[in-house]
Amino acid sequence: MQGTVIKSTGSACLVRLDNGKRLSCTVRGNFRIKGIQSTNPVAVGDIVTISKQKDDSAQVDEIAERTNYIIRKATKLSKRSHIIAANMDRVFLMVTLTNPKTHLLFIDRFLVTAEAYHIPAEILINKTDLCDSPALQDDLNTIIKIYEHAGYPCHSISVFNNKDVARAAALFKGKVSLVAGNSGVGKSSLINAMDPRFDIKTASISKKHQSGKHTTTFAEMYELANGGFIIDTPGLKSFATYDLEKEDLSHRFPEMRNLIGQCKFDNCQHISEPKCAVIQAVETGQIPTSRYENYLNIYQGDELERFSN
Ligand code: GDP
Ligand code: ZN
Repeated sequence: MQGTVIKSTGSACLVRLDNGKRLSCTVRGNFRIKGIQSTNPVAVGDIVTISKQKDDSAQVDEIAERTNYIIRKATKLSKRSHIIAANMDRVFLMVTLTNPKTHLLFIDRFLVTAEAYHIPAEILINKTDLCDSPALQDDLNTIIKIYEHAGYPCHSISVFNNKDVARAAALFKGKVSLVAGNSGVGKSSLINAMDPRFDIKTASISKKHQSGKHTTTFAEMYELANGGFIIDTPGLKSFATYDLEKEDLSHRFPEMRNLIGQCKFDNCQHISEPKCAVIQAVETGQIPTSRYENYLNIYQGDELERFSN
């Protein structure tokens, strides 16, 4: 039998069979794929082959090769990693301009890692109902301009608006999407609003009960009525990436990648080199200042090591 892992807690996982039924399975043995030293052999989104055992329990026998996956370090200094999710068609970063304000550096870091994993990224701008001042309207327009220019589709929504929720649900139709973002931006609220059966704890609820904030939570995949699948990753802010070299960082910024080969020096890092096409594009406004500053910020800091938050 084949199915998709919709929840994984290490030694056990919940599998959605191709006929739509769900089955709890045990995970035994060591599934080492492509040399990743991982603390969890099976991740949400994995396509698995399972078999029924004599005692009627079910067991994962095989994991299909992943088209992609995202990881974070198991612990800060650990070489081992934790696979968060696999086989995603897209990642959505949910951001807000206020309550809380998502920083552009956070967005750019996230997009850089999505580029490194070769997963198409889109931006969901939530809580637009709160953007009623001219200043916040300006911020909204700016953010859309910056990121659409870089090639990332932006969708402004308010979870409190049914029409927007329907619009968002249509984005997820027939695809496997991961939704990431800072805590409090409305990820759980959106998933709940798309299907009230889900009933994921939102921040306001967990505050009431003084719980849920720091408990260990696992990524989980939700099936929408329209055939879309959403992976929610509670507590995950950003991903770690291991194959990101400083020298390649500009390739993870689509606006800079477009200018490859146009700088005077082949190995130009676009910092202060003469006749740098990237710096010129920043000067003419073709590349937004914030994107370039965040490039420098990530390049010069040890951010590349700190992606795992
Ligand atoms: P998560 O941590 O990203 O899952 O965020 P939650 O879904 O828990 O939402 C955090 C808080 O934001 C809750 O109190 C929600 O009611 C509120 N919220 C979610 N979406 C919206 C929105 O579109 N507008 C406003 N004003 N509040 C929202
Ligand atoms: Zn350059």
